[in-house]
Amino acid sequence: MTMLLPQDGSIPVPQPGAFSRNYWEGCAEHELRFQRCGQCNGATHTPAVLCAVCASPALEWERSAGIGEIYSWTVVWRPATPAFVVPYVPIVVTMAEGWHLLSALVGCEPEAAEIGMAVEVEFHRGAEGFTLPYFHPVEKLLPKA
Ligand SMILES: [Zn+2]
Repeated sequence: MTMLLPQDGSIPVPQPGAFSRNYWEGCAEHELRFQRCGQCNGATHTPAVLCAVCASPALEWERSAGIGEIYSWTVVWRPATPAFVVPYVPIVVTMAEGWHLLSALVGCEPEAAEIGMAVEVEFHRGAEGFTLPYFHPVEKLLPKA
């Protein structure tokens, strides 16, 4: 049995820029943030200047409910750098607000990962003091939009 855990080594850390700083500050406060468009109400991630749906600059930061479902996943046994503990399971999550996030699955075995699995965010402070979002399985299903 291999329980998936957050990375605890000296993995490469994010390099926050002018657009992404608010997102990373949110993670440090255990708050998952994304941008909502004041023009079309669409959700945008990764952090940007223009709405990913309608290209409006009217983006405002919003706190996510932190729940979603797995859109796609894979199991990594041969990481990009030896700093990563394997196996780990990168996932693309469809968030309840309709945006997508690349993260990693924790709190279960790699074999448990499946498309449509309901997941919830949790935060872990790791390399260089950076707090990263991870996701664990939950029983609760997403409300239908
Ligand atoms: Zn828009």
